Amino acid sequence: MDDANPLGLLFEFHGHRCWASTVGMRAGAAALQALGVEPSGGKSLHAVVEIGDHHGAMCFGDGIQLSTQCTFGKGNLEKSRRGKLAVTLIETAADRRVRVAYRPTLQPKIQASAFMRKRAAGVPASDIPDAEQWELVRLIWDAPQREILSVGPVEPAAWNAIEEVVRFAVCPGCGELVAEPYLRTVRGDQRCIDCAGYPA
Ligand SMILES: [Zn+2]
Ligand SMILES: [Zn+2]
Repeated sequence: MDDANPLGLLFEFHGHRCWASTVGMRAGAAALQALGVEPSGGKSLHAVVEIGDHHGAMCFGDGIQLSTQCTFGKGNLEKSRRGKLAVTLIETAADRRVRVAYRPTLQPKIQASAFMRKRAAGVPASDIPDAEQWELVRLIWDAPQREILSVGPVEPAAWNAIEEVVRFAVCPGCGELVAEPYLRTVRGDQRCIDCAGYPA
């Protein structure tokens, strides 16, 4: 990561400036520091984020992705869907993990900010003036770590890697490539879920 301008990278990746993605960046960095590891483009780390679906502050997940390099595409990022801004980072080879959770000490200031009042009124984040976006971001970015994050103990965590299925086949119905576990049998033919007409 470009240490000189981590926030610039974050907002380029995330698409807008916001407090929750900034919390994610700091939580990811705190988890890496607690484990004493670097972000990894491989699979030596696995992140479980506690955000859910269709709620505010899910942006937290993008800060985690950028800071830890655990991503949806590599399959080493998952959601446990608790509606919380927290992450458990697992060092898979060492069977160790740490949980980092957001401490809402700044929440009254965040809720009272011009940015959040406009967001609550339905203004898209990208339509809010830069200065008001930065005000909120700096609040999180400049806060002492202990004020905004609780870093749990590093604990043992048995890690059972699930083997990836590498085999694919071309569906005779649509001609598209399908990973083998997703093929379904229809009258002796191996077809994709769409062409088979049933999921399981
Ligand atoms: Zn955001
Ligand atoms: Zn098909």
